[in-house]
Amino acid sequence: MSLKLFKLSVSLCAVMSSTTAFSTDISGEDFGRYNSRALSHQAYDEKKFQSDLDLAIANSLKDHKISAFNKRLSDTEALQAAIRISSQTNQEEKKYQSDLAQAIKNSLLDQKSFPLYDAFVIGSGPSAHSFAANAIQDKLNIALALGENPGGAINVKTTVRNFAGLEEKYGYELAYDWIQKSEKLGVPLLQETVTHIDLTDSIYKIQTSLGNTYTAKSIVFAQGTKPRPLTAKNIDRYKVWEDDAWHQIGDFKRAAKDRKVLVVGAGIDSVNKVKNLIEGGAHKVYIALRGSDIPAHIQELKELFPGKVEVILNKELDSIEGKNHRIRGVRMKDKSFLAVDMIVNAIGRIGNQNINIVSKNPFKKDSQSDRFIVSADFMTNIPGVFAIGDIAAQEDSSGQVIQDDGRAAIAIGKGASGERGVVRYLSSKKVKKS
Ligand SMILES: Cc1cc2nc3c(=O)[nH]c(=O)nc-3n(C[C@H](O)[C@H](O)[C@H](O)COP(=O)(O)OP(=O)(O)OC[C@H]3O[C@@H](n4cnc5c(N)ncnc54)[C@H](O)[C@@H]3O)c2cc1C
Repeated sequence: MSLKLFKLSVSLCAVMSSTTAFSTDISGEDFGRYNSRALSHQAYDEKKFQSDLDLAIANSLKDHKISAFNKRLSDTEALQAAIRISSQTNQEEKKYQSDLAQAIKNSLLDQKSFPLYDAFVIGSGPSAHSFAANAIQDKLNIALALGENPGGAINVKTTVRNFAGLEEKYGYELAYDWIQKSEKLGVPLLQETVTHIDLTDSIYKIQTSLGNTYTAKSIVFAQGTKPRPLTAKNIDRYKVWEDDAWHQIGDFKRAAKDRKVLVVGAGIDSVNKVKNLIEGGAHKVYIALRGSDIPAHIQELKELFPGKVEVILNKELDSIEGKNHRIRGVRMKDKSFLAVDMIVNAIGRIGNQNINIVSKNPFKKDSQSDRFIVSADFMTNIPGVFAIGDIAAQEDSSGQVIQDDGRAAIAIGKGASGERGVVRYLSSKKVKKS
């Protein structure tokens, strides 16, 4: 046989065996296993799944080549051919292998068809898991994207004391409990972050960081909040402390030793921040407030640490002054100067709006806090799009936005109420549950 003819017959064998690989080996037990795993959305296994798949493809190719050779050629001829192939068609072989792997992956992706969900939940803090637990009970077909912080904001809290019915727990233990409960209930937990949403059709499309596209009749935002960034001239040159997360408390306290500290704002977590600063040995803590009212929790701090904590009213930060990244003080908008050498941001949190949304109509948001304004049913102004937990804000009858956030139990309540809202929405639309 001429080399040309031989190559042709070998490539024909290869094509035949690749087709069989799709229809026999891979689409048999292995294919079924991979496919059902893909369908079960266990994204935790995604990487292992890919490498198992590559291995299966390699094995399948090897088997098919051997049987193809055996059918057409004698043992000696097959051996000679194999040697010639490996030396002469190395490049083609590599390309063939990678094309085949890609083709199988594409075919798997095609088959990985996701159901049309009743509700797609974005987030995995207490509100999302509360929504999920209720939705499963109501037999809604849902999926939940965990995002980058499974368990949510409470993860960073040391001891949580204000949770009814529970002994004191570390924040991360609570976060773990929520996820485990959802797992037990059979909620499809996707280890994916939602990047894009398309709301232009009646069926909503959700795209994630893994490149998957899901469809749903309703969407539930539960992405929580993030610290509101502090703005001041020169701020990029200096370290501004932000979180009193458990893994940072040691550093935070050490940094405070003998320092004059400015705490900007009186957000919900400013109390802990001030206590940690004093425990760390801060020389003095100034709390700068924009307005002229002292909130009760700040007044208590003043009384708890007389002489150590001073509240300065009607002050707004203009710029930070210092040298070689060392803070010397701050200039306020009224031009006054305060000598401090450490700054802490406690101006509260804003909605974690981190998804590209394509929508015919804009969302109604609270301009101050960048949260979605929702109805009593936790629906935004876009039908079928809900917001629960800390990213949701309700308006009272006078149009005043109610900032009920910063408590895990409130987030859980909003999750449960939002679920009732989704149920009512689906039945009012007479949309059959999937
Ligand atoms: C430092 C600190 C201490 C606290 N201490 C207490 C306390 O002691 N007691 C108390 O009751 N409350 C406490 N809270 C408040 C409580 O943690 C929050 O009120 C609660 O976690 C809010 O829940 P949530 O469901 O709205 O969202 P979060 O818990 O904020 O969770 C948001 C979730 O959304 C996910 N996500 C974000 N973007 C995406 C995306 N694009 N795609 C997919 N997922 C996404 C994240 O991964 C995360 O899981 C504390 C908060 C902080 C920050």
